[in-house]
Order: sequence, then C-alpha cells, then structure tokens
Amino acid sequence: MNIKKLAVAAALVGSFAGSAMAQQTFVSIGTGGVTGVYYPTGGAICRLVNKDRKDHGIRCSVESTGGSIYNINTIRAGELEFGVAQSDWQFHAYHGTSKFEEAGAFEDLRAVFSVHPEPVTILARRDSGIDNITDIPGKRFNIGNPGSGTLGTWEVIENTMGWDRGDLALASQMKSAETAGALCDNKIDGYFWLVGHPSGLTAETIASCDAKIVPAVADEIDALVAAKPYYRTATIPGGMYPGNPDDIQTFGVGATFVTSATVDEEAVYRVAIAVLGNLDDFRKLHPAFANLKAEEMIRDSLSAPLHAGAIRAYRELGLMD
Ligand code: GLU
Repeated sequence: MNIKKLAVAAALVGSFAGSAMAQQTFVSIGTGGVTGVYYPTGGAICRLVNKDRKDHGIRCSVESTGGSIYNINTIRAGELEFGVAQSDWQFHAYHGTSKFEEAGAFEDLRAVFSVHPEPVTILARRDSGIDNITDIPGKRFNIGNPGSGTLGTWEVIENTMGWDRGDLALASQMKSAETAGALCDNKIDGYFWLVGHPSGLTAETIASCDAKIVPAVADEIDALVAAKPYYRTATIPGGMYPGNPDDIQTFGVGATFVTSATVDEEAVYRVAIAVLGNLDDFRKLHPAFANLKAEEMIRDSLSAPLHAGAIRAYRELGLMD
C-alpha cells in the first residue's frame, strides 16, 4: 500500500470512529453518599434513560459524591452533566449568595425538575438529652461532610440560632454512611442531614441503635422559614420508622435535579422525557417518590431557569404551554 492509500484508509477508519462516537453520548449524574436518597435517585433516572439507549445513544451513569454543593461546583467545572442538589443551594449558586458569594453567580445553572422533599432530620441517641434542635449545643454532633448541602445548611442554622462552632462539644464532619455506626458506638450524641423519607440510613440508625428523630422547633427557625423562599415547614410522619410514633415537626428544602446551560439540549430533553414521560414507573423506583406530581416537579423549588431541553420535553408532554 502506498502512502496515499494509507492516508485514505486512515481517514476512513477515522470517520467510522467519528460516527460511532457521535451516536454515544455519556452523561454522569452527581448524587450523594451511597446510603442516602440522592444516590438511588440518580440510579432511578439513569435506569429510565438507559432503557431507551438504543434509540437515543445516551449512556447515563451515576457517581456517589459529597452531595449538593460538590455537585453544583462540579457541574460548573464541566466535569458532571447533571446533579442532585438541595433547593437552597440551587438558589444560592444561581444568585451567587451565601457559600457561593466568592465564586459569583453561576448564571449557566439550569433546573431540570424537582424531586422529593428533604426535611432537616435530626437523629439522636435516647440517652443524649437531645429532644429538640435547641438541645444540640454542648453535644457531640455530626454536622455533615464537606461538599454536602447538609453541612452548608448547618452553617445557616448556626447563624440563625446564634451558635458558634465551639458551642458543640464535638463537631464531626463524617460522611453520612459513617454516622449510624458512630451514633451506635456512642462516639456522637446525634447527627443531622437533609434527606428524603423513608431513607435507608435513617431506618438503619433507628433499627441498629434505637435512635429517635427529634423536632426542629424554635422561633428563630420560624423566622428563617418565613424569610426565605426555599425553606418550608415540614413534618416527618409518625410511624414511618419503628419506635418513632409521633409526627416530627421540622423544616426543610426540596431535592432538585440540575444541569448547566452548556449541556447539550438533546441530552437534557431525553433525560427529562425519560422521567416525566414515565412518571408512574419513576415513582415506583424509590418510596420517597410516592407523592411526586408532574406539575409540581416542573415548577416547585426551582430558582434557576429550566434548561431549554427540559422546556421542549414538558411542552411535548403537554405539561407546559
Ligand atoms: N441533601 C443531602 C446533601 O446534599 C444529601 C441527601 C442524600 O444523599 O439523599 O448533602
């Protein structure tokens, strides 16, 4: 084969490779710890997307991450296409406020849909003396791992309640998956996180060390909820977990699914159609999704604009004008 023929052959191989690549789009979803609800949420979304992979060529995968703030920052860096994030941190990232003041507004942040409610969930040992959020000072308490929305929201709670970090006997920052063991081993008196219910880790903590869920009731919390659009009062229903028969009054946010304006419109359209176009199937994939309603998912808890691909999907599904 002379040089010219070789070049033609190489070009042909190149173009085949090119067309094969064009048919495969890889998208990754940043979630949270493996024992949380974000991780199975990402799994449920990918499952519905990958079901029709032969038609659209999108291959969806899930990453376990530190949580909301990590996910938003990593989408911003272009290293993840999608992520699950608390509605308070979606708001702050888009507006460049609170923890995102230094980085500035993430104007390309885009909402896709909201998912389950995430109440502030405080778990305490029965011998800890923690019966309400106001009892936490002086205790050994896990405040959330770095990168989590939980840790970010803890900082907001601290400010609101007028507490210093030093007011805690121990402020640990373990990953959620480590907290149940630490509570059972009496290394901490309690931990908190913002999570959907029922959640595997909450159930595991209660089952393995007879922990209780305690309320977050205080005038300061009422004022915070009244002042901020992304917080609302919430109730963890009594009887959802063994040994916790009473409704727990607390407050919380919504879990949301976000992306960037720079992510391909077709990919976002396909992901949005896979979930909202198969909502009955999606609801069955985790008990925290049982009460999801399409009209709320495309509107509530979203402060960044909807991605153009999501708007196309919702118009096609007759959910939007
Ligand atoms: N809301 C939590 C966070 O961003 C994660 C909860 C979960 O993993 O389900 O830190």
